[in-house]
Amino acid sequence: MSEIFVIVEHRLNEIRDISFEMLWKACELAQTHSHTVTAILLGHEVNALAEQISDRADTVLLFDDERCKNFNAGTYKEIVAALIQESNPILTLIGNTSWGMELAPCLAVKTGYPLGTDCIDISFQDGKLIAQRQMYDGKIFSNISFADSPGYLLTVRSGVFAKDPLGQRKAEIVKKDFPLAEVPLKKEFVEYVETAAGDVDISQAELLISVGRGIGEEENITLVREFAEALGGIVSCSRPIVDKNWLPKYLQVGTSGKSVSPKVYIAIGISGAFQHMAGVTGAGTIIAINKDHKAPIFRTADYGIVDDLFKIVPALKDKVQELKKG
Ligand SMILES: Cc1cc2nc3c(=O)[nH]c(=O)nc-3n(C[C@H](O)[C@H](O)[C@H](O)COP(=O)(O)OP(=O)(O)OC[C@H]3O[C@@H](n4cnc5c(N)ncnc54)[C@H](O)[C@@H]3O)c2cc1C
Repeated sequence: MSEIFVIVEHRLNEIRDISFEMLWKACELAQTHSHTVTAILLGHEVNALAEQISDRADTVLLFDDERCKNFNAGTYKEIVAALIQESNPILTLIGNTSWGMELAPCLAVKTGYPLGTDCIDISFQDGKLIAQRQMYDGKIFSNISFADSPGYLLTVRSGVFAKDPLGQRKAEIVKKDFPLAEVPLKKEFVEYVETAAGDVDISQAELLISVGRGIGEEENITLVREFAEALGGIVSCSRPIVDKNWLPKYLQVGTSGKSVSPKVYIAIGISGAFQHMAGVTGAGTIIAINKDHKAPIFRTADYGIVDDLFKIVPALKDKVQELKKG
């Protein structure tokens, strides 16, 4: 029996989804392999955040200090490395985010532990850690193992694990003193800059209506916008739509866009190329509308409509509006 560490990521006093997703996976692994889950939370005035995750871990190590207010990879590295050296957790999970991509490599150097990055699944087989990663832009799924080590570090891709609470644990929240004599000052936090008004984060959306090249012309996107509006969903797209400058890059789903995990993903005129589908592995239900019954998307979709989108989308929109009225 060993520990699984999860580095909790938060921003503007909110736990980020990636932390819930990692805790979900850590709990699943812990349950099967009799490990315990330790969440490591650094911040300032973050008691409420510790409470929020307390049903998803066995221990929350809470470093609540003014000097932890904003993320600083140097501070995190020193504190987490000392914890790793003290407890030898079998696994430490870190988000494959801007935080994690900065923290994980320096933590690997500091601890000497092997590091696997951008993992999309994790398991233990015959006692050995196996991490799944994508290679060649999502064309190949590779299962990797590691050189023997007392513990391992993995960064986890956003949106690949569930974020639902298991709610089966009751963590002891252990308050720790800030352990460093001085804060490493190689970098300094300056400010948070919000995205421009109107920008949406498709990785957080619960209902995505995604449009692909099958839409034909830029002006036809209005059809998809109206459908999305009727459903209360958000418009996203495949790469050719961005390449043509019809929609902005932040709405692109896929390996060179964003990974999304909506409850429902409706793909309209999208063929289902692997670079696109690699971005929707975390989606709940996938519904595809495509006039070609051989389109690869039908291999993954839960529901499919084989027909002309220009016939189906307006009909669906009208039906939704009718149901809303009635
Ligand atoms: C390095 C690299 C990275 C990439 N990253 C991404 C990425 O992040 N995201 C991404 O999406 N792609 C990415 N791509 C591109 C990817 O390979 C595909 O080319 C792209 O996903 C195809 O987009 P699409 O499905 O919209 O278009 P197409 O493949 O052209 O498919 C259009 C579909 O619309 C259907 N259709 C046409 N007319 C109608 C109609 N009237 N009614 C119903 N259906 C209709 C067709 O049957 C077809 O299946 C990447 C490629 C590379 C090389």
